[in-house]
Amino acid sequence: MAINTGNFHNLGNSYENGSNAALLSAIARSAEELTSGKGWPEGVNDLLAALGKATGVSRVWIFQTIKVTATHITQNYTFEWAAKPKYKQLGMPMFSMSTNPIDRPEYRDLIHSRMRGEWQKTITETLPEGWLRDSQEVQKIKSMLTIPVMVEDQWWGTLGFDDCERTYDWSDVEIALLRTAGYLISNAVLRDRLSAKRKQFEILKQLTDSSIWELDFKTGQIWCSPEALYSVPMPTDNIRLSLHNGLKLIHPDDRKGLIRKAKEYMAGDRKRIFRYDMRLYTDCGDLRWVELIGNLRMNSEKRPEQFAGIAIDIRKRKQEEERLRKEAVTDPLTGVTNRRMFEYKLLEQIDSSVNEGSTFSVIIFDIDHFKTINDTHGHLVGDKGLLHLARNCEKVLRKNDVLARIGGDEFALILPDTDTETASRIGDRIRAEIKSTPFGLNGAEYLMTISVGIATNEGQLTTPARLIEAADLALYDAKRKGRNRVISRTGCGLE
Ligand code: GH3
Ligand code: MG
Repeated sequence: MAINTGNFHNLGNSYENGSNAALLSAIARSAEELTSGKGWPEGVNDLLAALGKATGVSRVWIFQTIKVTATHITQNYTFEWAAKPKYKQLGMPMFSMSTNPIDRPEYRDLIHSRMRGEWQKTITETLPEGWLRDSQEVQKIKSMLTIPVMVEDQWWGTLGFDDCERTYDWSDVEIALLRTAGYLISNAVLRDRLSAKRKQFEILKQLTDSSIWELDFKTGQIWCSPEALYSVPMPTDNIRLSLHNGLKLIHPDDRKGLIRKAKEYMAGDRKRIFRYDMRLYTDCGDLRWVELIGNLRMNSEKRPEQFAGIAIDIRKRKQEEERLRKEAVTDPLTGVTNRRMFEYKLLEQIDSSVNEGSTFSVIIFDIDHFKTINDTHGHLVGDKGLLHLARNCEKVLRKNDVLARIGGDEFALILPDTDTETASRIGDRIRAEIKSTPFGLNGAEYLMTISVGIATNEGQLTTPARLIEAADLALYDAKRKGRNRVISRTGCGLE
């Protein structure tokens, strides 16, 4: 008789002699040991001992498959239980990590059978002459049973039972029960792999400040790890939400963009990685910037199955972007809009006034004899004067007015929906406020005045350059006529 082999579906199920109670309880105890006791790999030795004692074999072993190619197999003899010291093989050179050719047909068939997840039992004296019989005789094995250990549908290794004293013919029920022991090992390996992956992911999450998310197209449900949604770290399970409720956690302005981007992504080149910056509401109602990174997995019918990835906390990056953006458009001393932004805002104002047919005014004002203030009292006093001017000016401004510092001691205002007359009144209010409000530094008080030029978008004054030039000319007139005054100029010439 050659090797007796088979898959597990064909095993009979007669409980022939009822003597499997010892085996069942050994498996039950081992299941507990591997799941909630010592776990992997420490609990495996206990499992092998329990199985060895319950079955009465001489040796129980595990060979781990490291690599199988078309011509060679690399295996490692990783665990063993021996009923007596003389049956021990662990540590012997031929039973440690080794690569062997699989050129003999009977060996190749055996390997392939194990790769298919089949069990094998042999009684040495009934084996045909040849390599396998020799190999078992050398080891003084009278009968043997092997059960493959499959992990994630791959042949992970072999659980073997050598009997050196009996020519034992394993029953179908025993084989089925020992198969369960194989599953215990598979699950322990799988759990170990998952926990290693979880640890790696924890490290990755901490290094990148990220959480994971997934949208399942079948159920329309989203789940995500809790980090992104809690303002303080929470040791809680993943959060499940309907797509509708998940979208409600996104700032409305970003929600529409996300839906649009996701649709574009799904309609386009899906091999690309999806990226989107958005604001999420945390449990406290705070907004948090995250970058959503993910890709789409399709099912076998090429339909979207799962959209999944990570969400990286980008609050620091957004703060930095905001700082740089502000720096690029504001004057560092006074914090008001700089000249570049002023010109941009002026263009915007011209556009909207043309569309709406509305009137707006530009005011340019300059500190009188500022050079003298600097020269007499020092630059620090000069700086304080510039700040004082900006803060006092802001007091009279409306929400949509724009204040900018466009030169050393020169400021400008854009006043939407404001005709020349109103602009003159506003300009004069600022002038009067500055003239009558001293500013102080180191206990001393200083006063200054400003000259104000006004232009309104009438006649030819429809480009930024012309408006600025007109307001500048009016300001020049104010200086020429004695300073501390307001002069307005429209496209029609001097008033
Ligand atoms: P005018 O009445 O004709 O405007 O006389 P002015 O002395 O104010 O002359 P002008 O406007 O040409 O001089 C601007 C001065 O502003 C020159 C410079 O010393 C000063 N200034 C420019 N930027 C700064 C700044 O950031 N801080 C200080 N303290 N002074 C500045
Ligand atoms: Mg000046």
